[in-house]
Amino acid sequence: MNDAETLQASEAAAAPAADVRGSDQAGPPIVVQVRNLHKVYDTSGHRVPALAGADLDVPAGAFYAIMGASGSGKSTLLYLIGGLTHPTGGQVVVEGHDLGAMSDRQRTVFRRRRLGIVFQEYNLLPTLTARENVALPWLLEGRSVRECAARVDELLAEVHLLPRAEHRPDALSGGEQQRVAIARALLNDPAIVLADEPTGNLDSRQSLEIWNLLRRFATERHKTILMVTHEAQGAAYADRVLVLKDGRIVGQIDSGGSRDAALVAARYQELAG
Ligand code: ADP
Ligand code: MG
Repeated sequence: MNDAETLQASEAAAAPAADVRGSDQAGPPIVVQVRNLHKVYDTSGHRVPALAGADLDVPAGAFYAIMGASGSGKSTLLYLIGGLTHPTGGQVVVEGHDLGAMSDRQRTVFRRRRLGIVFQEYNLLPTLTARENVALPWLLEGRSVRECAARVDELLAEVHLLPRAEHRPDALSGGEQQRVAIARALLNDPAIVLADEPTGNLDSRQSLEIWNLLRRFATERHKTILMVTHEAQGAAYADRVLVLKDGRIVGQIDSGGSRDAALVAARYQELAG
């Protein structure tokens, strides 16, 4: 099967979950639904619980942050939503598709088509220019540089890096490298962007640029954004902050994109402390 057929098969197999909105609620559809999610890592007989019954719903076009202490399961939750690892129990439904009902191949195709994933490390290839790094997923699919050019330049302009298109990663700051990685993640115009501590290696000025970009993608491009962060200042850019503790969501802060870091920090201490 080619990618299109694989995805069609997964669309047929993964019957959309019941209308998760509930009949009496208006508003955007829920595009990420997590139910009673469990994950236990088993490394040579040593069992480490990472998620212990996490539940969440993310509506289309919302920017949600996830905060929690180190080891609380933030990355694990994000990777399960991205289909990068398998849960021990529970369910992840993305855009109506139950990831657990897909084959590995279907999940991979679905992720490539619908999700953009950004990590703390930028994972750029050092020998390629910014332009080539953004184009890479398409070049690997066999498209020519010429075919990629217009889309890649549009994305570089969107992250304010068009003038640096011919520079290699070692000539770019950390924040600029992360913006290249974000442009690459947006190549296929994914509906959902997952970002795991995208500003973890950046200073505050560069972090602000990343948070503003993600905020803009949600507000203007209607992307659904899920960002793990330990910084209240960044979380305050989100519409809602989910607080993770010991593998469960223990509360939420409705910051409404207020950028009110003091409010988020105080509420976070109450919920996670
Ligand atoms: P966070 O991102 O909040 O710091 P993680 O999701 O990375 O938390 O980890 C949650 C727990 O699972 C931690 O106790 C961590 O040590 C453990 N863990 C994470 N990944 C693995 C792995 N691949 N193998 C074994 N244990 C892991
Ligand atoms: Mg982590």
